[in-house]
Amino acid sequence: MVFKCQEDSFLKEFTTKVVKCEETTEPIVEYGKVSQFEGYQIILENTILFPAGGGQPHDIGWLNEKEVVQVLRKGDEAIHFTKEPLEVGTKVSQKINWERRFDHMQQHSGQHLLSAILEKEHNLPTTSWWLGAEECYVELNNTKVTNEVIQATEDKCNTLIREAIPVNVKFCKINDPNLDEAHTRGLPKDCIDTIRVICIGNIDENMCCGTHVSNLSQLQVIKLLGIEPGKKGKTNLKFLVGNRVTKTLQLMLDREKALTGLLKNEPSKHEELIQKLQKNLKIANKNVSNLLSEVAQYEIEKIKNAQEKPKFIFMFKKDATPEFNRAVCKGLEEDNLFMFFASQEADKPKEGQIIIQGPEEHCIVLGQKITDILKCKGAFKNGKYQGKAGDLTGIAKCKKIIENYFNDIS
Ligand SMILES: [Zn+2]
Repeated sequence: MVFKCQEDSFLKEFTTKVVKCEETTEPIVEYGKVSQFEGYQIILENTILFPAGGGQPHDIGWLNEKEVVQVLRKGDEAIHFTKEPLEVGTKVSQKINWERRFDHMQQHSGQHLLSAILEKEHNLPTTSWWLGAEECYVELNNTKVTNEVIQATEDKCNTLIREAIPVNVKFCKINDPNLDEAHTRGLPKDCIDTIRVICIGNIDENMCCGTHVSNLSQLQVIKLLGIEPGKKGKTNLKFLVGNRVTKTLQLMLDREKALTGLLKNEPSKHEELIQKLQKNLKIANKNVSNLLSEVAQYEIEKIKNAQEKPKFIFMFKKDATPEFNRAVCKGLEEDNLFMFFASQEADKPKEGQIIIQGPEEHCIVLGQKITDILKCKGAFKNGKYQGKAGDLTGIAKCKKIIENYFNDIS
C-alpha cells in the first residue's frame, strides 16, 4: 500500500477513519532508544503519518488531539501508537508534527543527494545510513576518504541545491524492466507491490519508501562534519542538512560565547588559552604534590618525636589528598598505632576516602562501627581498611567513639 504521506509528503492535515484499535505493550523506539510503552495500536484507512522505514524515523502527531507517539509499518499497514483508545469507525482528523517531519525530509533527501555524488564522482558507494536525533551519517564502503573528497562533495551538493533541481517520485511495479537493481538501498523488505523511485533531476534515481522534498532548494544547505571509523572496512561520514545546520551553528555559538565569558578572550585565542591553563594546572598539581609530601613528612616526625606517644592517630584534614593520608599512614606503620585518616572528595564534600589501620584487637572493635557510620564500601583486609566513605557527616561521632575506646582501655 502507498500511504497518503508517500503520495504527498507535504500534507499536514488529513481526515480518515479508524479501522482497528487494540491494546499493546510493544516498546517505543525513538532514534534508536527503546522505551517501555503501554497503550493502543490503531490502524486507519489511510495516513499522513510516516511509519519508520528506509532509515527514516517515524512521524509523531495527533488523531483528534490524541497524541501519536510512534508509527510502525507492519506488512501493508501503518500502526499508530496512542496512549488512549479510539473506537472503530470513528472519523479522525490527523495532524502531523511538521517540524520533526520536515527535518526528516531534509536529512533524507540530503542523504540521497550526498550518496549519489559520493558514488558517481568519487566511487564511494553508501552501504547504509543513520538519521539520529542530532547526528546523521552515511556509511561508506571504504576506509580512505580524504578531506579533499569531503570538501569537493560538499561543494557539489551545495551547488546542486542552489540550482533548485526538482525531486520527483515515480511509481513502478516490482518487475518493471526500467528498475535499476543496484539501487535498492533503504527499501523495506515488505515493500513488495508498488515501488517508489525518488528522482533528483537526472542526477539520481533511488528506490525508497521515505518522504522527500519536492525541490533540492528546500534542503537549504548541506554541511559535512567529517569522518569517523565505522564497522570493519567502513567509514561513517557525518552530515547535517537545512535547519539542522542553523540549529547546530546556534548551539556552537552559545557554547563559544560561554567559553569566551570564562576565558575572557576572543574565540581565536581559546585553544591557546586552554593549552596554557592545562600546562599551568599540571605544574600547580606537581607543586601541591611536592608540598603535601613535605607536610606529610613533617606530620610523621611531629608524632614520632612527641614526648608522649599518642594512643591513636585521628587525622581528618579537609583539603588533604588520599596520597597525603597514605604517605602519613605509611610513615607511621612501624609504630603499631591505631590510625584513622579521612579526606574529602573535592567535588562531592560529603564523600571521601578513608584509611583505618592498626593492631587487630582495636580494629575488630572499632572498624565495623566506623565503616558503618561513614557508609563505607568494601571490607577490612589484613587488618587494614582503605576505601570510599559515602557519608562523612558522622566523622565527629567516629572521633568520639575512638577517644572513648582508648580512654576506657587505658
Ligand atoms: Zn531513501
